[in-house]
Amino acid sequence: MTDAPVRGTTAPPPADAPDPRRAVPRTDAVLADPRLAEAIHRLGRALVKRAVAGAQQQARAGAITPAEVAEAALAALPRTATRLRPVLNATGVLLHTNLGRAPLSAAAREALAVAAGTCDVELDLTTGTRGRRGAGVIDALLAAVPGAAAAHVANNGAAALALVAATLAAGKEIVVSRGELVEIGDGFRIPDLLESTGARLREVGTTNRTHLADYARAIGPDTGFVLKVHPSNFTVSGFTSEVGPEELAGLDVPVVADIGSGLLTPHPLLPDEPDAAGMLARGATLVTASGDKLLGGPQAGLVLGGAGEGAELVEKVRRFPLARAMRVDKLTLAALEATLRGPGTPVRAALDAPVEELRRRAEQLAARLGEVAEAVDSISTVGGGGAPGVTLPSAAVALPERFAAALRAGDPAVLGRLEGGRCLLDLRALDPADDEALAAAVAAAAPTGT
Ligand SMILES: *Cc1c(COP(=O)(O)O)cnc(C)c1O
Repeated sequence: MTDAPVRGTTAPPPADAPDPRRAVPRTDAVLADPRLAEAIHRLGRALVKRAVAGAQQQARAGAITPAEVAEAALAALPRTATRLRPVLNATGVLLHTNLGRAPLSAAAREALAVAAGTCDVELDLTTGTRGRRGAGVIDALLAAVPGAAAAHVANNGAAALALVAATLAAGKEIVVSRGELVEIGDGFRIPDLLESTGARLREVGTTNRTHLADYARAIGPDTGFVLKVHPSNFTVSGFTSEVGPEELAGLDVPVVADIGSGLLTPHPLLPDEPDAAGMLARGATLVTASGDKLLGGPQAGLVLGGAGEGAELVEKVRRFPLARAMRVDKLTLAALEATLRGPGTPVRAALDAPVEELRRRAEQLAARLGEVAEAVDSISTVGGGGAPGVTLPSAAVALPERFAAALRAGDPAVLGRLEGGRCLLDLRALDPADDEALAAAVAAAAPTGT
C-alpha cells in the first residue's frame, strides 16, 4: 500500500523548468540578513525561524522569488515575542470571545504598564509591611455598585461561580430552575461546572416555567443556596415564567444570581439585561459576573455581596482554600481597577455610539476606498457576553467577499462579517481612532487591479 505513487506530489518538475527548491536560500543564509539578526535579538530565534520557514515555503510554491525570501520573512514577523496578532474587530459583535472579548480602555492599558514591573500589589508602602492584596479594586467595585458591601475577584466568571458553589454547597444541594441550566460556550455547561465542585444539583420546574412553589418544595436542610442563572446567550419566549430574587429571598436560604454580563448598573439600551446593583437591591445575597463582558475590563470574575449575610458570605468565599487557586494576578487587578475608575470603556462607547455617527464614518471610509466599497446599513449584536436577542442598528463598509481572506492575513488583521456574498466591515465595535488603520488595511488587501 505504501509504495503506490501519490498522484501529483512525486512527479519531478519538467526537465526544462528549473527546480524552484534548488534556488530557495537556506535558513542560515536568510538569517544572516542583518534585519533578521536584529529581530532574533528582539523576538527570539524560534519566531524568526518560523517566519523564515513560511517565506521559504512561499518561494517553493512559486508565490515569491527566492530573492524575496528575506523580505517576506521580515513582513511576516510578529510585532512582539508572541504569536498573538492585533485584530481590528469589524464583525459588529461587540464582545467577540474569539477576539478576547472586551478591548481595554486607555486607562486600563496605562495601569497594565505600571503593574508589569514590580509594584505594591500586596505591600503597604507607609509601614513597609504586607498590605491587603487587591484593596484598590475592591474599593473601586464597592464605589461602582450601589448596595454592595463586600467583593471578591477571581479569575473569570466561571471561577467566581465555582468558588461560590464550593464554599457554600460542596456536599449539599444547589436548587436551580431547569430553564437556567445553560451551556456557556466551547462545550462548557454551568451544571457540570457546579457539580465538579462536589455540590449536587436539585433541578426544579420545567424548561419554560418555574414557580416559587417549585423552589419552596425543594428547599430543606441539604440546601446550600438557590441559584439564578441569567441566560446570557439565548432567549426564551412564549408560555414562560420565572421567579425573581425578591420572591426567592423569602425562602430563608442564600440566593446567588449569576448575571454573567457584568453590567454593574442598568443600561438604558439593555432593559432586559440584569445588573449587579439591581440584583442586590431585589434581594440576591450574592451576585457573580464576568469582568470582560459588558463591564469592559480584563478577564475576571466578580463575587459581590450586599450588607449583612452577603458580606459575611463574600468573606467566607475569600478565605476558602480554593480561592487561592483562582487568584488573579497583578495585571488583572491593575486593569480591572483602572476600568472601574477610568472615564469609560470602549465597550460602553461602542454600545452608546449613535447610528448616524457610524453611518458618517462608513460613508467617509467608502469614499476613500473607491469603487469596490459601499457604505451600507448593518446590524450589530452584543455577543455571547450578554444581551441575547438585542440588535443595535449599525453601519458598515461592504466589500467584495474575496477581500475577507486578505484582510485576515494583514497587519493588523481585520475580521469582518460575511453576509449575502459580501464582506461587511461593521463599524460599531471598532474604535473610531482605528478607522485610519482600517482604511490602510483595506487598501493593502485590495487585489491588484481593483
Ligand atoms: C459568561 C458567563 C459565565 C462565564 O463567565 P466567564 O467569565 O466566561 O468565565 C457564567 N455565567 C453566565 C450567565 C455567563 O454569561
